[in-house]
Amino acid sequence: MSAPTRPVGRLDPRLRRGLAVTVADLVAVFLTHHHRDRPACAVCGHVYTTAARWCPSETLARQLLACRRHERPAAVAPIIDVLTARDTRALPDPAATAPAAAGTGELFPVADA
Ligand SMILES: [Zn+2]
Repeated sequence: MSAPTRPVGRLDPRLRRGLAVTVADLVAVFLTHHHRDRPACAVCGHVYTTAARWCPSETLARQLLACRRHERPAAVAPIIDVLTARDTRALPDPAATAPAAAGTGELFPVADA
């Protein structure tokens, strides 16, 4: 097994365009990071748990599409059933993490991005 080339759960670069992100971009990001039949996102490696049911990119794209889907209904129509489906997956609880080292000022270890 090779090491991931990017940090796990890193936000999709298409979502870093600020106000230039289009509805079509959001649909593409959503479809790229939506893997309901897998234990983790196949793109960013985020492991689905009860605390974080979807990866950050999927979650952000979903939330932005909820607000902006009326801008381009034709772009969202093919995925509307998936986008609005109830999530019934039985997911594991997140793995317990050790507290941060004393003197760091953090409650939990923080990974560098
Ligand atoms: Zn992902």
